[in-house]
This record gives sequence, C-alpha cells and structure tokens, in this order.
Amino acid sequence: MPSERVEISSVAVSPDHYIGGRRVASEQTFEVRSPLDWDWKLADVARGDALIADLAVTAAAEAFPEWAAMGPKGRAEVMHRLADLIDDNIADLAIVECVDMAMLLESLEARVIHRGAENFRNYADLAVAYQERVWSSKGTRNRVQRMPAGPAVIITPWNAPWLLATWKIAPALAAGNTVILKPAEWSPLSASLLADLAHQAGFPPGVLNIVQGIGEEVGAALVKDKRVRRISLTGSPETGRLVGESAAVSLTPFTAELGGKGPLIVFADADIEAAAKKAAGQYDDAGQVCLAGTRMLIEQSIAYDFLELFHRYTDAHVLGDSRNPATTISPLIHPDHMRRVEGFVERAREAGDRVVRGGERWKDDGLWYLPTLVEPKDNYSEIVQREVFGPVLTYQTFSDEAEAVELANSTRYGLSAIIYTGSEDRAQRVGSAVRAGTIWVNTFLVRDLTAPFGGMGISGIGREGGDYALDFHSDLKTLQIAEGTTS
Ligand code: NAD
Repeated sequence: MPSERVEISSVAVSPDHYIGGRRVASEQTFEVRSPLDWDWKLADVARGDALIADLAVTAAAEAFPEWAAMGPKGRAEVMHRLADLIDDNIADLAIVECVDMAMLLESLEARVIHRGAENFRNYADLAVAYQERVWSSKGTRNRVQRMPAGPAVIITPWNAPWLLATWKIAPALAAGNTVILKPAEWSPLSASLLADLAHQAGFPPGVLNIVQGIGEEVGAALVKDKRVRRISLTGSPETGRLVGESAAVSLTPFTAELGGKGPLIVFADADIEAAAKKAAGQYDDAGQVCLAGTRMLIEQSIAYDFLELFHRYTDAHVLGDSRNPATTISPLIHPDHMRRVEGFVERAREAGDRVVRGGERWKDDGLWYLPTLVEPKDNYSEIVQREVFGPVLTYQTFSDEAEAVELANSTRYGLSAIIYTGSEDRAQRVGSAVRAGTIWVNTFLVRDLTAPFGGMGISGIGREGGDYALDFHSDLKTLQIAEGTTS
C-alpha cells in the first residue's frame, strides 16, 4: 500500500520510493525537516534497505531491453516530454526544493529548475546527433558503436539535489540505460516529484526508479549489486572511496564527482572591483557549493584595496528565509552540518588562525552561520587544506605568479579554480598550470553542458558532461569487417 502524500507548501509529495512505475512504501522511515525552520517536519520518508535495493535493480534490469531497443530517437521523445513537464511545473518544484534544502527560491524559479529540463533536452538531442566513427584501415572497415550498458545507479548529495539528479540521470537515460536514483537523505523531496513527472511523461515502468534512504544502508546495497552496469556518484571523497571499493569488487565502471577546495586567485592587473564582488558571492547558498572558490589568493600589492571592497560586498549580504527575494544567504542544511562548520572554525582559532570576520551563528535559534573569513597561520592549516562546505573563506597573499600557482595547487583537491586577471596571456599560462577540472577566468559558474566536468586528485574520478557522459554510460564497441565482405 502506498503511503499518503504529504502537503508541502501546497504541493502533494509522495514520501515513498518509485520502483517499476509505482509507489512502494517501506516499513521504516526517516524524518525530513526544513532548514528554514527546524521545528517544521516536512515528511517521514521511506527508508530503503537491501530488499528495496534488490527490487529497484530488478525493475531496472527488466526494463532495460525495451528501453535500449527504443533507440536514441524513441528515448528522446519521452525525455522531451519530461522536459516540457518540468517547465510546466517550475513553481511546485522550486518551492519544494526551497523548503527541503533552503536554496534561494528566486534562483530556483528563475534558473535552476529549468536547467533540469535543459539537461533532459540536451542529452536527448546529443544522443540522437551522435555520429558513429567509421574508417578503413588494414584491409578492414571499422565502426565504433555506442551500446547501452544496463542499469545505472546514480547517487546524489544534498546540496543541489534537483540540479545534480537531472544532470546525472539525463545522460544515463539518453544512452539507453535504466536508472536507479538514490537522492541524499537530507534533501530527498524534489526527486519524488521528478518521479511523478517521469510517470506522466510516459517512461516505461522500471526505466527510472527512485529509492529513498540512508547512504550506508540502501546506497551501499545498490552499489554492491552485480547486475548494476554503471555507478555515478556525486558526494564527498570519503563516500567516493567506499563506493569505489564496491565498484572495484564487481569491476563496474564508476565516476565520482567529489569535494572541492577551489582557489580564487586575483592578480594586480585584474578588475579588482569585479573580483571582490565575485569573491563575496562565494558565500551564496551559504557556501554549500563544491565549485566555490573558498581559498582567496590575492596579489600582495592590491591586498588592502581588495579586502576593503570584499568586506563592503560581504556587508551587503542579507541572511534570512530563502523564500524571501531579499535574502542572499540561506541557512545551512542541517544541525549536524552546522556543528561541522563550527568545528572547523573553532579548530582554526585553536590552531592560531585569525578569524577576520564572522566565525559564529547569526542567531541562536536558526541554522544561519555568518559569512566568515579566516586568515590562516600558514598554508598547512586545516581550514586551508580541507573542504568546510559552509560560508567560510580563507585569505592568503602571494608575491608573484609562481607563488600563486604553487599555493593554488597545494591541496589534494582539484575540482575548480577561479582566476581574475586583465591579461589573456596570464589567463592561458596560469589556467594551464593550475590543477583543476574546470577553471574560470574573470567569470564563475558559467557552464556549457557539452564540456567535460569532473575533478583531479581527491575531487573525483572520470568526467561527465556532454559526450563524455554518454560515452561513460555506453559500452563502446568496435566492429571490424574485412573489406570485400559482400552484402
Ligand atoms: P556524502 O558523500 O555524505 O553523500 C553523498 C551521497 O552518497 C548521499 O546520497 C549519501 O546518502 C550517499 N552515500 C553515503 N554513504 C554511502 C555509501 N556507503 N554507499 C553508497 N552511498 C552512500 O556527501 P554530501 O554530504 O551529501 O554532499 C556534500 C559533498 O558533495 C561535498 O564534499 C561536496 O563538495 C560534494 N559535491 C561535489 C560536487 C561535484 O560536482 N564534484 C557537487 C556537489 C557536491
């Protein structure tokens, strides 16, 4: 028996799993509360276990042959219908994501939810446009085919649930794989709405399955299932290691988009005002952004002017309820996460780092943490070397380009970097020298969906985005036919 839907800001949301085209309840549940007001319980959500994982993989495995046989064009039709339904339901999706995760409502309504629709459209069209590579060599005709691989497990984190789920599901489906999505337990609700829309769009049962629950429980069971042909995780390096171990046992191809500790490098020849404004913008979404440039590296000669501007822009931030258009800094996701952020700052103080601003909660009774700036004692400080994932930036200076690159490359992460400079030559030089999967120069967060995306070092394994994601989700096959073979 499916559970009753719960009303969340006038939107009816199922707290159940979605498996094989129908809602499935679990006896056990877990509580989901709103970061906007921790007394506000949103739902008791189904807590999947090994049996639920088995049910979902079985549904995905059974649905696979038919979905694969539909070909890119047949799949694109269904995916486009889903994209249109997403665009028709932006307001509902946005408000549920907002109260569940506390992302700013205005940006959800204006950009983020629609980006989910674009993910489905773009990957559907990219799969249709694929040109097989065909050539002759050594007396044979060669042909490279993309073959659908099978059921794919997709595991997503809590910080951008809608964006990341759609970004990761779309290429898997377009490539002809069936999907089991395991959203994060701190923000699982928009995924449930996605299941409703997929149902309405006419996805055959079992093509897209949503399994709710705790990572160490149902997540671990999913990635151990040997019928799974692809695993794609976005999360922390710690989870990346655990999921990678399971993938290694079954030799299942695995991509991991993991944490970041990106540098934001400002050279003296840059537009300092623009750089300072962007630096203060790293507090957006309460700093819970893997790509954020959280380590500010500023050329010594402009440090004073830069900091003055940075403080001015940071002062302009408005902490508050994410539904209020005036708010620019939302609360943190969860009290446990608040304690984690506080722990980093407390340890930094104890270690002799200087907390220049913030360093405490905004109010006693909410999950807001003040935008915080720390000047570390040295480059070995924990606050420089480890991802905080909150509104906490560090600030260091450098005297020349070589030192800037050395500092930028001095952590084990390598997801992203931001560079501000007025010189194209320097942009090319430093951009090449900095170790990160994505580097933005004089801009931030501009993404072309066809570009490769992923991290170096402990920031990830493999690349997603565009054809890279479609290749990952396919079994590439080379067919060689001797020339002279007649038809
Ligand atoms: P997390 O690693 O704790 O959890 C991520 C997901 O993995 C969740 O759904 C969780 O339930 C699941 N999980 C946990 N343990 C598991 C296990 N043993 N087996 C299977 N699944 C398991 O990460 P989080 O706290 O949800 O998210 C924050 C992290 O994600 C940060 O490190 C952040 O930088 C990273 N992140 C990276 C990107 C990127 O694109 N590289 C994007 C967003 C977030």
